[in-house]
Parts: sequence; structure tokens; C-alpha cells
Amino acid sequence: MNRQRDVVILGGGPAGMTAALWCRRLGLSHLLLEAEERLGGQLFAIQNEVIDYPAVPVKSGAELQVKFAAHVELLGCEIERGVWVREVHLAERLMRVRLANGGEEQIGFRGLIAATGGAERRLGVPGEQEMIDRGEVYSATRDRERFAGKRAAVVGGGDRAFEGALLLAEHGADVVLIHRSEQFRAREEFLQPVLAHPKIELLTHAKVERIYGERAVQGVEVALRDGTVQQLEVQGLFVRIGVEPNSHLLRGQVATDAEGYPLVDATGQTSFPGVFAVGDLCTRPLYSGIASAVGQAMIAAKQVSLYVEQKGAEL
Ligand SMILES: Cc1cc2nc3c(=O)[nH]c(=O)nc-3n(C[C@H](O)[C@H](O)[C@H](O)COP(=O)(O)OP(=O)(O)OC[C@H]3O[C@@H](n4cnc5c(N)ncnc54)[C@H](O)[C@@H]3O)c2cc1C
Repeated sequence: MNRQRDVVILGGGPAGMTAALWCRRLGLSHLLLEAEERLGGQLFAIQNEVIDYPAVPVKSGAELQVKFAAHVELLGCEIERGVWVREVHLAERLMRVRLANGGEEQIGFRGLIAATGGAERRLGVPGEQEMIDRGEVYSATRDRERFAGKRAAVVGGGDRAFEGALLLAEHGADVVLIHRSEQFRAREEFLQPVLAHPKIELLTHAKVERIYGERAVQGVEVALRDGTVQQLEVQGLFVRIGVEPNSHLLRGQVATDAEGYPLVDATGQTSFPGVFAVGDLCTRPLYSGIASAVGQAMIAAKQVSLYVEQKGAEL
């Protein structure tokens, strides 16, 4: 074993950063591991104003990220970026990680707070894996200029789909928004602007069945309500059909529901003693958000502190 901490925190989004902050305040030796080079997680995906996180109204998620990151730095939390946690072995209380320099390490822990968030759900249709393997996985935020003057398809009916469609259209793309029904889950602030936008075409009761293109996406085949299949020529596809929890590191080791969300008690503790799951990792989209991630992380840190104290006393 290369290193050992009272508590290791997986993921440096709002939940992970809050957990680190509280571990620091509670005097626990801790280490937060974040796969990306920067902290923040999904905060970077929030282009709109964040007006629902109390006392800190900001113009974008990136602005909030700066405040979060400055806070954990101010308190001297122990954090490492660019570290990909590959495997976690709960029974042995250790994990294997790939460091930013490419090296490998084993890190031991007494308590674990998993805050690895969620990832976009896939369509599961022919051509999707090839598209991903070619690196054609776009962010409307990052790649909006790339699609100016081009045609793109966005799949989904929630906030992510609508916000993405709007961003692309506002930057000059022609957007086809494909959704399986006529019911949209998107918030009103996105709904009306999308429905009224001249560069966004809505295709409802439609299901993507195939993505085609040899070296790049050239189009999608969409099954319509009347049973016909339509070919849509597009240069990019944005799949925004919801999220699934990044729980693969814990699967088979803690109890989860049918969709892979770890089951937790009121303190965030999973079925494995001393192992906690917080934030989007264990919270369905209806209830997820920065405020719930932060609150859950604080509670988990306090509980893991009690757990570590008790284990220390038993030794
Ligand atoms: C477009 C968009 C708009 C949103 N708007 C709002 C809003 O207005 N208000 C609001 O409250 N919420 C909003 N949210 C939701 C909010 O961003 C999330 O609820 C919040 O970020 C969840 O925090 P988290 O820490 O649980 O997970 P995440 O932010 O997802 O962070 C998880 C972190 O874990 C890291 N990680 C994953 N696997 C590993 C691994 N194996 N090793 C190391 N690190 C790993 C990831 O790199 C990531 O940094 C929005 C989300 C999106 C996408």
C-alpha cells in the first residue's frame, strides 16, 4: 500500500468538495481524488445562471466552481487532480488509482465517501459506439462554434436537451430536437425559447434507430409514430436522454437499485459500513442539484467521522 487515509473521497464535484471541506473541519486525514485536471464536475456544464443555490447567485456554473475551488484551497483540503480511480476493493479497504503522471498507486482508507456523480445515458443503437470511439462526443457548450452553419440533432426532452438545443441554435446551427413523446420535462425557462426558436425543428414521437456515417456522423435514422423511418442528415448528434449513476466502482459490493443507484440510509451510508455515497451518484434527477449534493456530503462527512473515531477506539 502506498498511502493510507482516514477518509478517501472519490470525485471533485460539489459533493466531493464539500465532503473534503467537512473532513478538514472535523480533523480527519483525508484525500479527494478527481479524474479531471480541474475540480467542479458538472458545474462546468451549467451555462445558465445558477439562481437556486442559496446566497450565491452566479452567472454560470463556472463562476460557482471558482468559489468552491477557492474555498477548499483556503481550508487546505488535501486534493489531487488528474487521478483516475480504477478499482475499489471495499473488503480490503483499498483502491487502485492511475496518477496524473501515468503511474499506478494503491491507496488505503478507513472510511470512503463516493461522490462520482452521473453520466449521460446512451441510446444503445447501431453506430453509437463507433461514434463514441471516433471521439464524436460533443458538448453544446464547448462545441457550439463548431456547429455554426451546420445541422445537428439533439435527442431528449429534459433540461439538458433543451439547453443544448438552444445554445447550438443561438450560435448558428440548425437543430432537430428529437423526442419520443410530446411531453417535455424541460424547465419553462428553456421550454418556451426552444419552442419559439426559428432554427429549432421539433420531431416528436420519434426514436433514433441508427446512426450512420463511415468516418463521421452523416445522419440518423428515426422511426416515426406512423411506422415510417426517416433519414435525417446531420453533422453531429447530441444524446441527452438522462443520466445514470457512476456507480460501477461500487457495483457488486454495495446494494443498489435496479438502475445502479447505491441504496443509502439517512446519513448517506451504503450497505457496506463506513462507505458513503453522496450527490448525483445516489440521487435521481428529480431531486439532484448542487444544494442536495452539498447537504448530503456534509452529513456523510460527519457520520464518517464518527465511524472512523469508533474504529480507532476499537484498535
Ligand atoms: C446542464 C446542467 C445544468 C444544471 N443546472 C443546475 C442548476 O441550475 N442548479 C443546480 O442546483 N444544479 C444544476 N445542475 C446539476 C448539478 O450540476 C449537479 O447536481 C451537481 O454537479 C452534482 O454534484 P456531484 O458532486 O454529485 O457530481 P458531479 O458534479 O457529477 O461530480 C462528480 C465528479 O466525480 C469525478 N469522477 C467520476 N468518476 C471518477 C473516478 N473513477 N475517479 C476520479 N474521479 C471521478 C468526475 O470527474 C466529476 O468531477 C445542472 C447540471 C447540468 C448538467
